[in-house]
Amino acid sequence: MTSAIDWQAASAAVLAAERIIVVTHVKPDGDAIGSLLGLTLALRELGKTVDAAVDGGTPEYLRYLAGADTVLSSLKEGAWSLMISVDASDEERTGAAGAYGRANSPQQINLDHHPTNTRFGNLHLIAPEAASASEIVYEWLVAAGWPLALPAASALLTGVVTDTIGFRTSNVRPRTLEIAAALAAVGAPLYDIVQRTLVAKPYSNLELWKQVFPSVQFEGGIISAVVTLENVKQARLREMSDGGLVGMMIATEEAQIAAVFKEQPEQNVEISFRCKPGYDVASVAFGLGGGGHVQAAGVTLAGTLEAVRAIVMPLLQKALAEGKARG
Ligand code: AMP
Ligand code: MN
Ligand code: MN
Repeated sequence: MTSAIDWQAASAAVLAAERIIVVTHVKPDGDAIGSLLGLTLALRELGKTVDAAVDGGTPEYLRYLAGADTVLSSLKEGAWSLMISVDASDEERTGAAGAYGRANSPQQINLDHHPTNTRFGNLHLIAPEAASASEIVYEWLVAAGWPLALPAASALLTGVVTDTIGFRTSNVRPRTLEIAAALAAVGAPLYDIVQRTLVAKPYSNLELWKQVFPSVQFEGGIISAVVTLENVKQARLREMSDGGLVGMMIATEEAQIAAVFKEQPEQNVEISFRCKPGYDVASVAFGLGGGGHVQAAGVTLAGTLEAVRAIVMPLLQKALAEGKARG
């Protein structure tokens, strides 16, 4: 799949590096932390000195992963010979930790699977056909002939499972399943990972959904919902997560496109988009300054909920019409 990638140059950069910093995207999901930890643990196993960082550190529900407690929640000092960015489509997505790492590392590897990747950095391990960044980390370890132990395998399988929502997305390839099987063969606990990351949710999540469901609107193939700061406060969320609300909305048979508008402090709105195969929300998100995958994308926009909805809904209607025209 990844024949165009120069694994050799990236491996040489790692072997030559004194000290390495690995970063990922802000508000990290399972693939962000999975690829970050999988790579970090594997390179530490090789004897390299590796720091890992993401703003805010590892989310609570992913702290079962070995090494999760070693992920720095901010970078304020240090210098590295090499920075590796994983699962982030642009530099801004790596937040303050990424900005600090970039300013203090002469070389940068960009490892990612988003079709909207801006190709920042000096060395590119970019494979849009991969369903997760964790798969690319696995391919790299295999290409380099570096060992893969259980802690790293568990992190990588967490990335594959979460980004494919349990092998249910349209970008799951035979190779995705081969990689998952190889990780499980090392001992990565598939059932446990599925339970922790996809099935179990805190009660506060249901409390949030109870409040949010009245906001659901469905019109002409587009389903949307709004999450206000007040909803989040009332639900007493343990962590800022809507528990996969947009994923549940796109499960609606009659819907082709789903959007969840999440109010953020200081008049910002974060939007999560999903769509069925044949439609494209990556272009909508990218056009607004965000990014993602054809079927799952996002962006954060300044403005009130109403103002942002007024801008975005017509763009979704256009994406719906374009998808229908393609047939
Ligand atoms: P989410 O709806 O947060 O699960 O995000 C869906 C996909 O869109 C993921 O691949 C994210 O990495 C990507 N994404 C979300 N927000 C942004 C953003 N502001 N910029 C670029 N990509 C984003
Ligand atoms: Mn991600
Ligand atoms: Mn990913």
